[in-house]
Amino acid sequence: MERIDTRGADVGGIPIHRAMPTSGRRMVGAWCFLDHAGPVDAAPGHGLHVGPHPHIGLQTFTWMIEGEIMHRDSLGYEQLIRPGQVNLMTAGRGIAHSEDEASPAAGRLHAVQLWIALPEAERHRPPAFQHYPKLPLVDEGGFHVTVLVGEAFGKQAAPEVYSPLVGMDLTAGDAAGLSVPLQPGFEYAVLVLSGEARIEGEVLEPDTLLYLGSGREQLDLQCGAACRLVLIGGEPFGEEILLWWNFVARHPEEMEQATAAWNEHRHFGEVKGSPSARLVAPDVPALRQPQPFS
Ligand code: MN
Repeated sequence: MERIDTRGADVGGIPIHRAMPTSGRRMVGAWCFLDHAGPVDAAPGHGLHVGPHPHIGLQTFTWMIEGEIMHRDSLGYEQLIRPGQVNLMTAGRGIAHSEDEASPAAGRLHAVQLWIALPEAERHRPPAFQHYPKLPLVDEGGFHVTVLVGEAFGKQAAPEVYSPLVGMDLTAGDAAGLSVPLQPGFEYAVLVLSGEARIEGEVLEPDTLLYLGSGREQLDLQCGAACRLVLIGGEPFGEEILLWWNFVARHPEEMEQATAAWNEHRHFGEVKGSPSARLVAPDVPALRQPQPFS
């Protein structure tokens, strides 16, 4: 087991902790990005606003815990996401979207956004967007387990992904204990979102990523009081990726091309209706090694 510090940052006016990528951990299966946003009580007029921006080569997976966000994209989707719901956007060869706090009154916001790298055979597929209003929920050992992706406790989550993956939200309102069945061929990591959890005897507080590696058949999970955490896992990805700004690719030239296309209003289409300004893609640095998002 390996503890990995998250990095504090600001995304769209909201404080976040970035658990991946960091120098300590770039991927868990195809999961290649993990932001924990909030929980925060935003003042009126100071809610989340991420203006129109492009993505390639990945899926964005948004899990809403508190608050509401309006998603708009270049396919024309306009979708409010509420607590307990998932938005899954498949960028494939290219899409643009915006994310804005739904109410001008702002208020509470707590969410997790993950990115999933698309494998070589799928990364140029047409863009798509799907909203999942309800995910499978199982009560086990005092935990409410929401299956976000893949299969767990006999339940299959609907979100459509392109490599073997699993994701769960585990929430307990009081002391609880649970053994989570794992797949030995998957690698896993846990991020506590609130409270304190004991994982295989190791005490974990919010916003430290615990990387568990692979080869495990189960995970012993306990808490002495209310807690919430996410467990992610997947088959080791097996492809080197480049991740820079909002793009996942394989070659620096692809980053240059995507940057130029976005800044010249080509290829991605436009996002209509966002109250936020369109973002400008920054210059691409020299990318010889996989680079962290910054
Ligand atoms: Mn985005």
